[in-house]
Amino acid sequence: MSTELPEIPANTNPAEILRIGIAAANGPVSLACSFSLEDVAIIDIAQKAGVAIGVFAIDTGRLNEETYEVADALLERYRLKIDWYFPRHEDVEQLERTEGLFSFRESLDKRHTCCGIRKVEPLSRALKELKGWVTGMRREQSVTRGDLKTVEQDELNNGILKINPLIDWSERQLMDYARENSIPTNRLYKQGYRSIGCAPCTRSIGPWDHVRDGRWWWENAENKECGLHRR
Ligand code: SF4
Repeated sequence: MSTELPEIPANTNPAEILRIGIAAANGPVSLACSFSLEDVAIIDIAQKAGVAIGVFAIDTGRLNEETYEVADALLERYRLKIDWYFPRHEDVEQLERTEGLFSFRESLDKRHTCCGIRKVEPLSRALKELKGWVTGMRREQSVTRGDLKTVEQDELNNGILKINPLIDWSERQLMDYARENSIPTNRLYKQGYRSIGCAPCTRSIGPWDHVRDGRWWWENAENKECGLHRR
């Protein structure tokens, strides 16, 4: 499937990027919500601008309690419906029976296996009915995201559009937006977490560390993607 990519001028604001991306997708579009500050900001921006997007989330089974609290706060504040996806239970059972509970620390391959079962497979089901998905990815987040496009074709997921409205936002801009708009915020950010994924694969870091240094901290920077954003 090939969809014509829209021209999006530099400095286009996130609400406008959403509008242009959704129009180009020409069908259902949903935000992949991990309850990060980025994703909550997108929900807030979309609601204030009157842009309708669906929201889906993947419960990997290894999320922090604090992350579920954000999900609950979103339901309360925005009255939205979250489409939850779970890993296939047979795959998780097989993984834990044969490899144990922390096999993802043993090698990159084993980490990819766990992410494949708990994240990538449910994501592929979530994206099946969509013409586009929205992410909170920002260019400055990591070496793997430097060449990100505002709207790109997701070749690994049937060529649907991937819309990245916060692509050029800095961490500072994001935090200012969160504070000024009092959006629901994961309590772990106050404990030194700056990018939050599954509990056993995320830890707090210092202010001078790179924003994703707390994710899979035992791996090299170029490996720090979970498979959701392979390109
Ligand atoms: S982030 Fe860690 S626990 Fe979560 S799916 Fe990936 S390897 Fe498994």
